[in-house]
This record gives sequence, structure tokens and C-alpha cells, in this order.
Amino acid sequence: MWSIFIMPMVLEELTETANQPESFSFPKKKFGKKTVVERSCQPQWFKTWSWLHYNEAEDSVHCHLCLKALKFKHLTLALEVILHL
Ligand SMILES: [Zn+2]
Repeated sequence: MWSIFIMPMVLEELTETANQPESFSFPKKKFGKKTVVERSCQPQWFKTWSWLHYNEAEDSVHCHLCLKALKFKHLTLALEVILHL
């Protein structure tokens, strides 16, 4: 029951090591109302942060260590504790 923060697919499809594609075409998302800027995941981030995990289906970036901990129940989300999910 991670639905609000992390889609179950992200955990189900979690790879053993962080997914850090270098030649993937990262989709651009528009941010801002007055000044609209386009942002996307930047592959150079992977050189700085080895724990970054990119999920291609969700176009989302996560901490690989935290995802592993969630997947193997070493870590629970605060909402789970509050709602006893
Ligand atoms: Zn983490």
C-alpha cells in the first residue's frame, strides 16, 4: 500500500542495482505558471549520486537503498504506521 508515495510497480520492478540509463530519452515535464520551465532527469546526476534509481515507466527518481529497504520490509512508510496499512 504505497500508492500515495511510491507506485507498487516501482518496487516490483526494482533491479538489484540502481537503474542509471545514460542514453535514455528522459521525458521533459513543464513546471511553473508565470515562467514555464521544462525539467527532466539528468544523466550526469548518476555520476554524482550512485544511489539514484530511475524508473522509466514512471519517469521518477528514487533512492535505491530506500526502495530496497521498503521492498524487503526493513523500512515502513509513516503513513502505513499511522493508518495501520
Ligand atoms: Zn534513501
